[in-house]
Amino acid sequence: MDFAFTPEQEMFRKTVRDFTDNELKPQSAQWDKNEEFPREAYKQMARLGILGANVPQKFGGMGMDCITAGISAEEIGRGDMSCAQFVVMGGLMGGLISEHASPRVQEEWLPRFVEGEVVISLALTEPGAGSDAANLQLKAEKDGDQFVLNGEKTSITTGYVCDASIVFARTDPSAGARGVTAFFVPMDQPGIERTKFNDLGHRAVVRGSLFFDNVRVPADHILSVEGQGFYQVMKGFDFSRALLGLMCIGCAEQTVEDTIQYVKERSAFGRPIAKFEGVSFPIAEALTMLDAAKWQCYRTLWLKDNNLPHTIEAAMCKWWGPKISVDIIHEMLLLHGHYGYTDEFPVEQRLRDVIGMEIGDGTAQVCKIVIARETIGKEYRPY
Ligand SMILES: Cc1cc2nc3c(=O)[nH]c(=O)nc-3n(C[C@H](O)[C@H](O)[C@H](O)COP(=O)(O)OP(=O)(O)OC[C@H]3O[C@@H](n4cnc5c(N)ncnc54)[C@H](O)[C@@H]3O)c2cc1C
Repeated sequence: MDFAFTPEQEMFRKTVRDFTDNELKPQSAQWDKNEEFPREAYKQMARLGILGANVPQKFGGMGMDCITAGISAEEIGRGDMSCAQFVVMGGLMGGLISEHASPRVQEEWLPRFVEGEVVISLALTEPGAGSDAANLQLKAEKDGDQFVLNGEKTSITTGYVCDASIVFARTDPSAGARGVTAFFVPMDQPGIERTKFNDLGHRAVVRGSLFFDNVRVPADHILSVEGQGFYQVMKGFDFSRALLGLMCIGCAEQTVEDTIQYVKERSAFGRPIAKFEGVSFPIAEALTMLDAAKWQCYRTLWLKDNNLPHTIEAAMCKWWGPKISVDIIHEMLLLHGHYGYTDEFPVEQRLRDVIGMEIGDGTAQVCKIVIARETIGKEYRPY
């Protein structure tokens, strides 16, 4: 067993931490208030190699190991949760396009994605299909060497600002999950409209809905082959779920550190409140849980780096990391007293942000279904 990061990984962590401290923390509240997509920070993250973490070097990517990508998620999560979503997007979209897109799509889009010039979203959820994603209804019908897309996607991170989207559509109405195909769709195609959400948190990534009205997509914009879309994205989630756990954990870690500082400085009943066990014990409990959850995520990424199965572990990271982060940040907010409830401190924004990660990429219930299905047996799944 070896729990140490390599010297290169430690150095990368320091670089990302400096970037987070200098560029993200000072601007995070303003992006949130203005629902402003942080275009410059997105490009800076690209320059650090974060967007192209798992894109092959021939397309300008870093070809990084997954543990190093996890370090980005944890460190960026300390500074701004919207920007931390770009780490997850980089991992998911970079992987899907590198592994499954046609050479034409790869050559045209990957170098620009890696450089932070374009934003690419993932459009799976529909108004009538979220947890039950295999039941999606957006239709793709073949017409010569093109497909024609009709339907609606909703709740898409960066939906309002993205330049292209990986859109999951039904190509075979009678084939369930095997009738779902992934398409790479540039957003400037005629027939696409979008609206934006007024969200509780993650306001800088401007989530939104996408409407497709007879949108034509060339057949070579299919990712891999027809009918494989659902399985491609589920495999991608085995990576993104560990990153997502880490970004929430990073956010909670920073909040605990800020709170430690606060309770040393704040006095009540003639002494620093850090002296009261009612204050110090929740901090001790938070540190214990974060330590356990963090190593669970890094172990999952280590399994992926070593080509070992990690579907169960990724589902564990995804439900437990966000859950304890929400509980811990809530507790830390209370330790700030009434100040924690104002926007003078970043705690309230962080709480709003991490709640979103309890839902995105699969709810806790869905992750527990995965864990139960893979351990108790497929014949006992509820669907
Ligand atoms: C911040 C954020 C970002 C997101 N980004 C994206 C994105 O980029 N792309 C994208 O495609 N989607 C995205 N989503 C959508 C997200 O993936 C879905 O919201 C999620 O999968 C849940 O689907 P739903 O909202 O339709 O809830 P539903 O499926 O309607 O579920 C409602 C409730 O019922 C529970 N439930 C459902 N089925 C079961 C069951 N069998 N057993 C027990 N409980 C069950 C759920 O856990 C949940 O609590 C995002 C969501 C959020 C909040």
